[in-house]
Amino acid sequence: MFAQIYPDFPHATLFLTLSIAFFAIALLLALFARRGPWVDRHLHCRKCRYDLFGHPDVPPACPECGCAMTKPKAVRTGLRKKRPLL
Ligand SMILES: [Zn+2]
Repeated sequence: MFAQIYPDFPHATLFLTLSIAFFAIALLLALFARRGPWVDRHLHCRKCRYDLFGHPDVPPACPECGCAMTKPKAVRTGLRKKRPLL
């Protein structure tokens, strides 16, 4: 499309390819930065984000929402504070 609009522009394909690559990298970095900093590294219920800090062992069910904690990936380590969109 760019080459059709500006047929005399040298290396139009290279320019377009690099533009798309830089845009994709910038988008990935923005998504990575949006994750935000760590708030803590405690165990949390993945469903309701309840903090399991202070429990000697992972309980069979979440004290807050009752979700089964024995399922794989029911517990996550750490919590991040998401940054808002611009
Ligand atoms: Zn829960």
